[in-house]
Amino acid sequence: MKYDMHSMKAEEFINDEEIKETVAYANAHKNDLALVDEILEKARKRKGISHRDASVLLACDDEEKVKEIYDLAEQIKKDFYGNRIVLFAPLYLSNYCVNGCLYCPYHLKNKHIPRKKLSQEEVAKEVIALQDMGHKRLAIEAGEDPVNNPIEYILDCIKTIYSIKHKNGAIRRVNVNIAATTVENYTKLKDAGIGTYILFQETYNKENYEVLHPTGPKHDYAYHTEAMDRAMEGGIDDVGIGVLFGLDNYAYEFAGLLMHAEHLEAVHGVGPHTISVPRVKPADDIDPGDFDNSLSDDMFCKIAACIRIAVPYTGMIISTRETPEVREKIIRLGVSQISGGSRTSVGGYAEKERPHDTEQFDVSDNRTLDEVVNWLMRAGYIPSFCTACYREGRTGDRFMELCKSGQIQNCCHPNALMTLKEFLIDYASEDTKRIGEEVIEREIGTIPKEKVREVVKERLVKIAEGERDFRF
Ligand code: SF4
Ligand code: SF4
Repeated sequence: MKYDMHSMKAEEFINDEEIKETVAYANAHKNDLALVDEILEKARKRKGISHRDASVLLACDDEEKVKEIYDLAEQIKKDFYGNRIVLFAPLYLSNYCVNGCLYCPYHLKNKHIPRKKLSQEEVAKEVIALQDMGHKRLAIEAGEDPVNNPIEYILDCIKTIYSIKHKNGAIRRVNVNIAATTVENYTKLKDAGIGTYILFQETYNKENYEVLHPTGPKHDYAYHTEAMDRAMEGGIDDVGIGVLFGLDNYAYEFAGLLMHAEHLEAVHGVGPHTISVPRVKPADDIDPGDFDNSLSDDMFCKIAACIRIAVPYTGMIISTRETPEVREKIIRLGVSQISGGSRTSVGGYAEKERPHDTEQFDVSDNRTLDEVVNWLMRAGYIPSFCTACYREGRTGDRFMELCKSGQIQNCCHPNALMTLKEFLIDYASEDTKRIGEEVIEREIGTIPKEKVREVVKERLVKIAEGERDFRF
């Protein structure tokens, strides 16, 4: 198999030999400071760099250069995403699953956990609970099970989610994280009005992939790896990729991840909308120590910084798997979206106490959404509940064009302030409200266009009077 980023064959666009050569090249050149400087110079143009160049940066351990890498990642983050952080929550629909993934408690052979699938009434209850927290953007999750979770079930759930309007609440964007499926099913998801289709590769190393997925349809590496091509063929413009760090060597995964992004850009003219960086976490029947590729917090942060530099236009997502300390550091280096107030069990939001019996993984950040919003603002960020782009038809290449021209900033910033204002009025505690009003006051002044500033001021008044859902 030869490396070819334009190929539609998994083993050619994620080519094992190319990845191994890349990792070897990166190790051989990691302290070639002239080369590192040359790559950093390229990266400063903010047009992204190749998987090879990015791998050299990741391997580099010269203290001064590593600092330059971090500084550049932070600067790119500021230039493209400002100080905004978009918030979302996962919603677990069903933990029935026919696969045998060794790192996930939902694997078929796990008989300790109760199996549960939400009825439409239960979905509605979860959505009301999420709306009452203040969420506007969800990522739905379900195991792979053609009998219990067929595509019709997922579509019904999406319809229910969009239909619930509780008090001033509404879920305005549903992202979908379900198993690899057919072009036809992707078209159905597109027609149901989903935002991003998310599918983690777990690991790009085929040999290891097959060991980690010993049974079930997910065992098929090519079918899984080529899923994003089918999704795009089915009409989905925005796709989200990711690996589960800890399953294989991080340098291998990093190169694979960027090769996947390069492939999507080369073939479909638009790279991934988001990249997620989850790490293996403890859960029922799962001990992360069983996977000997766990990586330190420092290396995890460096990976995030190098992703930020390599693909500046791609959003980066981190979940509540990480502690607040790691989240704080990594947000600065490039993350643009985080989950908040998450419950990773089926039916978890409608329960008063956080249930653990059907959890997919241990949540390390147990704060409420209000606490996360409060913390973000104290750290200098603007929490955003914006969902404007896909609702305005700004998806795929239209979105990327706006991003690359820098024009998207004129939408993100005012939208963040207006959605934050909604949150403060409808859901925030007194303390969060107080800080939030100060943040809005301060940040209005930073909107560059006077006309936009005036419109935002008018709309903020209207929001205070009860109107909702303004957007640019
Ligand atoms: S990772 Fe997904 S496919 Fe694998 S066992 Fe868990 S729910 Fe099923
Ligand atoms: S305007 Fe678009 S890119 Fe910006 S925060 Fe909103 S949805 Fe995201």
